[in-house]
Amino acid sequence: MLKAVKNFLLDVIFPKKCLNCGREGAYFCEDCLSLIEINPFEYCLCEKPQKLMSTGKCWFCRDRKLNGLYSAASFKERRVKLLVHHLKYLNQIKELADYLSFLILAHFNFITKEIPSDSLLVPVPLFIKRKKARGFNQAEEIAKIISAKTGAKISLDNLKRIRNTQPQVKLNKMERIENIKNAFAVSNAEEFKKKIIFLVDDVYTTGATMEECAKELKRAGASEVWGLTAARETN
Ligand SMILES: [Zn+2]
Ligand SMILES: [Zn+2]
Repeated sequence: MLKAVKNFLLDVIFPKKCLNCGREGAYFCEDCLSLIEINPFEYCLCEKPQKLMSTGKCWFCRDRKLNGLYSAASFKERRVKLLVHHLKYLNQIKELADYLSFLILAHFNFITKEIPSDSLLVPVPLFIKRKKARGFNQAEEIAKIISAKTGAKISLDNLKRIRNTQPQVKLNKMERIENIKNAFAVSNAEEFKKKIIFLVDDVYTTGATMEECAKELKRAGASEVWGLTAARETN
């Protein structure tokens, strides 16, 4: 109750404004949100992603540990970039994870699929220091909302980032693969055994991080590991 009063007062004194058009009321207004183009197809994991006729991945990606990727929108879309930047870097507004989760669920609607309630959501972990500096892990925040909406359980702190890596942003593809190698570990393999896992993150770039996580999850006994992101750099 107290929190509700505090939030109400904060809204009166500092009204939320749409990050895109400035309209008062929310961090992202409905009009601006509806202009984000949701990806209506499934694409492979590869760099020049191919549209898939059946689930999964193409022949070239057959050896990848990741079973496939569900990505809601393009990271080239300015409004999506705005949401991600304000969530992670500029103002670090945790609530923006709501909008990114909304995009993911809208994508599932478009492709007429559902996230099964008996699957497990695993957010891509941040190194502890990085999480402390930001105050939250954006992947975790997105996963929490998807878990609440779909009934799928969420696994926190079992897949861990055991090494602090350089931010992938400044590295090329090969450097990214090297940088992230053996950066993750599983504490309790039992939780992942025979599970269908959705690995959650905000943006899929080269996929090096997700591939490395998928490797660990499969080593722990997961039967399938699918990527789940709000945006993708390459389409
Ligand atoms: Zn707006
Ligand atoms: Zn492929």
